Amino acid sequence: MKYQSFLIKYAEIGIKGNNRHLFEEALVNQIKLALKRCGSGFKVYRTSGRVFVDATEEYDYEEVIDALTHVFGIAGICPMAQMPVLPPEKVKEAVVAFIGEEYPEGAHTFKMHARRQDKNYPLDSLELNAMLGEAVLEAYPRFSVDVHEPEILMTVEIREENIYLYSHVIPGPGGLPVGCGGKAMLCLSGGIDSPVAGWMIAKRGIKLDACYFNAPPYTSERALQKVVDLASIVARYTGPIYLHNINFTEIQLYIYEKCPHDELTIIMRRFMMRIAEAIAKRTDSQALITGESLGQVASQTMVSLGVTNEVCTLPVFRPLIGFDKEEIISVSKKIGTYETSILPYEDCCTIFVAKHPVTKPSLNSIKLHERNLSEKIDEMVERALMTDEIMIVDRDGSRVLKAADEELKPGM
Ligand code: ATP
Ligand code: MG
Repeated sequence: MKYQSFLIKYAEIGIKGNNRHLFEEALVNQIKLALKRCGSGFKVYRTSGRVFVDATEEYDYEEVIDALTHVFGIAGICPMAQMPVLPPEKVKEAVVAFIGEEYPEGAHTFKMHARRQDKNYPLDSLELNAMLGEAVLEAYPRFSVDVHEPEILMTVEIREENIYLYSHVIPGPGGLPVGCGGKAMLCLSGGIDSPVAGWMIAKRGIKLDACYFNAPPYTSERALQKVVDLASIVARYTGPIYLHNINFTEIQLYIYEKCPHDELTIIMRRFMMRIAEAIAKRTDSQALITGESLGQVASQTMVSLGVTNEVCTLPVFRPLIGFDKEEIISVSKKIGTYETSILPYEDCCTIFVAKHPVTKPSLNSIKLHERNLSEKIDEMVERALMTDEIMIVDRDGSRVLKAADEELKPGM
């Protein structure tokens, strides 16, 4: 086992003042959850403002790095060799061996960076730096010192219980640990935008639930599977997502029958938001999230967004509001949702779209036309809420918690 331990560097959590320990605890919990699939031989703990992962048995290095690079809150991961607190001569041997293994060839500039937490250690950090630097230069003439911009910052941490050696930092995803900021309901369609929007809000420490408005038989089983697949990719970062699959067919047909077609999308979006908010409230989400981006389509002009927003009482987060499509695509490629998002299966909005949707809807006109729905819409919304199918979607698939038409189990 080359690395027995990992130092977890975090950026923003460090500045959270009195709440810092809460953020650190949340980070430790998220790391523990992420490492579950890598085996049980890990100890995750925090000590004097730092988070460590110690491996207590053999593990798969790539798998562990993959798990850790998906934990929000981590700014960097330092794989470390670990040794007991031994005299300076032994540390010297270990540092020379470590560098030989990490950088077996090539010329490199380096700087020694000793930190001595254990003040009883016989040499102080300056003395350690001098002694260790000299030993490295002697062992590897291809190395040279650069104290200003070294390629390699060879760090030696002398702690009371162990000595740690590390020299490289693998970047983490940044952000804040999921769960420390509450929970929000993501309106997840099968497109490119909404998974990115969910990912961005989760990155700020928010746990995600999701809802998908499905319109069978106008949308296929594969369209639903695509949404489940997208949720499962986002779940690599967030942990399991409760996905609510809502049958929207009846409402959509009714709007299509009763309302002017140039207002269809806006009215439909208003009902989606109403239902999403009802589910959010009964499942303790404190906000809604959509993948809307200003000006992207007729229903996302400033006026349209205002009219859609009018039915919501919870805050609606639209993290992509100022993004161009190209920018959204670039994030979706980075997080791994793009290839799934561009699969062709129809989603419910595209089937009922008008040729010339309004771009500046009038709220009065929309409200007036929504009155055409008054006879049946309440019971339809109730039914949609009743038939909510709930799936727990994790990184490796989904399982149904409550099938459509099943009674809601107590406590859900
Ligand atoms: P995406 O925005 O995910 O790429 P899209 O562009 O096809 O999909 P829009 O028609 O732009 O979706 O809808 C705007 C937002 O409304 C989406 O980002 C998503 O948050 C929400 N939304 C749209 N359709 C659905 C749906 N069928 N189920 C859940 N949410 C939806
Ligand atoms: Mg969109």
